[in-house]
Amino acid sequence: MDVSPSHWLDIAVQTPAHSGVGTLLSYRSETALTPGQLVRVPLGRREVMGVVWGAGQAPTDLAPEAVKPVLGALEGLAPLNTEWRQLVAFAAQYYQRSLGEVALSALPPQLRELDSTQLARRLKKQSGQEAPLTVRPGPLLSTQQTQALAQLREHPGPFLLFGNTGSGKTEVYLRAVEDLLARAPHAQALLMVPEINLTPQLEARVRERFGEHAVVSMHSGLTPAQRLKGWLAAHSGAARIVLGTRMAVFASMPHLKLIVVDEEHDASYKQQEGARYSARDLAIYRGQQCGAQVLLGSATPSLESWHHSRPAEEGGRYVRLQMPERIGAAALPVVRRVDMNHQPRRTVLSAPLVQAIQERVQRGEQSMLLLNRRGYAPVLFCADCGWKSECRHCSAFRVFHKIDRTLRCHHCGATERVPRACPACGNADIAPLGRGTEQLEEHLAELLADVLRPDGQPVRVARIDADTTRLKGSLETQLAQVHSGEVDVLVGTQMIAKGHDFRRITLVAAVNPDSALFSSDFRAPERLFALLMQAAGRAGRDAAQGPSEMLVQTFHPTHPLFEALKRHDYPAFAASELAERESASLPPLSHQALLRADAREQSVAQGFLNAARQALEAELGESSDNAGLLEQVSLYPAVPMGLQKVADVERAQMLIESPSRKALHRVLGLLHSTLHHLRLDPAHKGLIRWLVDVDPQAI
Ligand code: ADP
Ligand code: ZN
Ligand code: ZN
Repeated sequence: MDVSPSHWLDIAVQTPAHSGVGTLLSYRSETALTPGQLVRVPLGRREVMGVVWGAGQAPTDLAPEAVKPVLGALEGLAPLNTEWRQLVAFAAQYYQRSLGEVALSALPPQLRELDSTQLARRLKKQSGQEAPLTVRPGPLLSTQQTQALAQLREHPGPFLLFGNTGSGKTEVYLRAVEDLLARAPHAQALLMVPEINLTPQLEARVRERFGEHAVVSMHSGLTPAQRLKGWLAAHSGAARIVLGTRMAVFASMPHLKLIVVDEEHDASYKQQEGARYSARDLAIYRGQQCGAQVLLGSATPSLESWHHSRPAEEGGRYVRLQMPERIGAAALPVVRRVDMNHQPRRTVLSAPLVQAIQERVQRGEQSMLLLNRRGYAPVLFCADCGWKSECRHCSAFRVFHKIDRTLRCHHCGATERVPRACPACGNADIAPLGRGTEQLEEHLAELLADVLRPDGQPVRVARIDADTTRLKGSLETQLAQVHSGEVDVLVGTQMIAKGHDFRRITLVAAVNPDSALFSSDFRAPERLFALLMQAAGRAGRDAAQGPSEMLVQTFHPTHPLFEALKRHDYPAFAASELAERESASLPPLSHQALLRADAREQSVAQGFLNAARQALEAELGESSDNAGLLEQVSLYPAVPMGLQKVADVERAQMLIESPSRKALHRVLGLLHSTLHHLRLDPAHKGLIRWLVDVDPQAI
């Protein structure tokens, strides 16, 4: 048969991660195509979008016509450049996923649906929106801001900006962007934040400073059309600034010269499904690879970044910039520990706390009560037989929701009406055990019933948590009420501690922080400290308000974590925590990956992981290429996960650990073929899936 001359291409398409299909597929095309171009190709019976990755090989074992043809290229779009493709390839390899999956999921969903005509219409609509950049002047910089910016001009970075809450870090980011845009006529900047919904003020501030046309947002709260529009503007270079959440680290920005990662310690930079990438770590990689300056910022840096920013003589790789003082000399709150051992048993809100709140209300100031959600999820309990509202599908209890009288599982979502009587013994007298945030809000309202505001009005208590903010826009409404002063006491979970610039809060209280002190998760104290420092940072932001205070209710008032908190001393906390991590060989002094398996039965999940461990050990022992690897990498026995069962699926995990990142990754490189092989063994029938989490956040 006569086939017209063909070009052979390797193309990335979205194949399921564990399908066993190689990362790139071979296609042929009648016309020459450039790497980075988007094309439509057949995949099985479907037609999907793919990214041309490079020239392929003419088939040796197949007739040329057996290779599937490219169906069409998306015209009018500049190819995704080499740097972008390298970033994607690195992420796929590092986080152990298929290249096609990472590449395609980094593109806006709507782009994958368009044909050339629709795209042309889009692009036409967007052209001509490139107004010249106008920058509004910012405030006069403080001395420490000026010094930080001077260092940014001198060193290539990466940088860790360690600055107190309210020290003016955001202003440094904006000024760094301004510097760059003034210096380089086409340069682009990427500003990453943990969760945009929680910080609408920041978005407003950026847009106000640089103008609507210069800035696009990138996060999952946008409509598909908005996301496409922003993506195209970044890809064409028209958008000079991209402001986004972790997904924005993959934005196509041909002239990227600066990446800022605000609140770099925040756990939401780590994706928790699919490719479990860390946007902060990828930002560092991306910056190095495309020559962009990287600036991480936090008042409570991750111990990883803190460790990397130790002095260069000790091996540090980041430049540490410090801004210890708050703008306007606003003092940090005085931290007072309330020893709960001296309070009546089962006290939830201690007398000193209630009194402190009362005083604030009477003075017309605001208070914020921070709850640790764990321990505040009320389960239903039968005092006669000991029955508790367990979820049938998960190893967890279902939670009592008073508002619609339901029992709801927070893991699988199973919901049912509250039973009239105990399902086990028929006792009609079943009651919630433990207090919910709801009950706490009620309890507080009772305690403050007689307290009046300066205007003679009764006190107003509001609660902000996952339940009260489920409706779109409700968080914004509630936050606006806090800002306008309608609310006197704000009760909530960690959601309220992040980033808000509340001006009138003079009291912050941690109601039940203790459980994190003795958690099995070695990162729990780090997270608690960051949360409490953040929460403390919500108080006293306005020097005109007078002194502010933080109250910590604890049974362990002399715990070093609270001692460091009292002194607002992150470096002391970090030093003691790092010493502990070092003696236990934990990150950042070692590197970890988790291999997880899901199955209908726990024994199957664990059996699969343990078989994988033995197979890996055998492989490492045999081959001389891998000599010495086994001594550097520890493979631990499989264990059930903390939350062992979710929605009737049993989960197990196996930890892989090494002081050498390179050694760890060499072992991970062997994992895929080993696991695919094992999976075919009938002994592992019933295995549902497995996944790898590199640099896991929680183990
Ligand atoms: P951070 O990001 O470190 O918490 P921000 O940049 O939000 O701090 O600054 C805290 C407050 O101080 C904001 O209200 C901001 O507008 C203001 N601010 C920042 N820098 C200056 C400055 N140089 N002069 C006056 N006000 C400033
Ligand atoms: Zn009972
Ligand atoms: Zn459940």
